Amino acid sequence: MNARIHHVNALVSSLRLTAVDFDLLYANQNDLTPLESVEVFLSEQQRLRTEKQNIIRRRRANLPAEKNLESFDFGFQRSITREQMLRLSDMTWVEQAYNICFLGPPGIGKTHLALSLAVKALDLGYAVAFTTLDELMIILKTSQISTASKRRLKILNAAALVLIDEVGFMPLSTVEANLFFGFVSSMSEKTSIIITSNKGFDEWSDFMGDPTITTAILDRLIHHCEILNMTGNSYRLQHRKSII
Ligand code: ADP
Ligand code: MG
Repeated sequence: MNARIHHVNALVSSLRLTAVDFDLLYANQNDLTPLESVEVFLSEQQRLRTEKQNIIRRRRANLPAEKNLESFDFGFQRSITREQMLRLSDMTWVEQAYNICFLGPPGIGKTHLALSLAVKALDLGYAVAFTTLDELMIILKTSQISTASKRRLKILNAAALVLIDEVGFMPLSTVEANLFFGFVSSMSEKTSIIITSNKGFDEWSDFMGDPTITTAILDRLIHHCEILNMTGNSYRLQHRKSII
């Protein structure tokens, strides 16, 4: 029996399966038929593989935090409804490569809602990648010379849903605006983008610099897009925790 278990373990590792405890499997389930044993073993392999893929997918997504709709106070943020967010939670829009833009002042929950949708997408098995516009600029500018940037860009390109957070905080140079346009173009019709911005679209040319490139970017972005204009007070300021 030992030689057989040894042989099975060797097969498991050469097939890159996950090792399961055969002693335990055999001891507990020796009343199983051979076919049932194979079924138990393969089901376990499948479960472990799905689990591993989930972990890898979440790591690749690089979300700054796991947020959800349950912890979002729709009584405080009244410019968007729970129903609207629940409707977006089925992710059918990702299938159609639609985009979502959360627009509005700081602290009103744009990133929280964007991350909630990202978590839903991950749970449903979609490849997701989070970045900020600043980070995206660094990635795009250094992808030729940095392996880390190249790897990150590959993950962004392979994702079904890309989040670009904090668009509008920093002014872009002409080179950067063009890189952003190239990136958005490469995504269009194939990948969904969620953007959060503290600036309304009419203000985008202020930080993009060039009005022509701004129009081109917005044209690609909002062709198939849910635009959520949010207002309200900063949750951070209202729920500020003080030390004393
Ligand atoms: P924004 O991206 O609009 O600047 P965030 O989504 O980062 O704002 O929100 C700031 C903080 O306040 C986060 O920790 C977020 O989880 C929390 N927050 C914002 N709005 C709400 C809300 N309506 N209910 C619960 N938490 C909220
Ligand atoms: Mg934010």
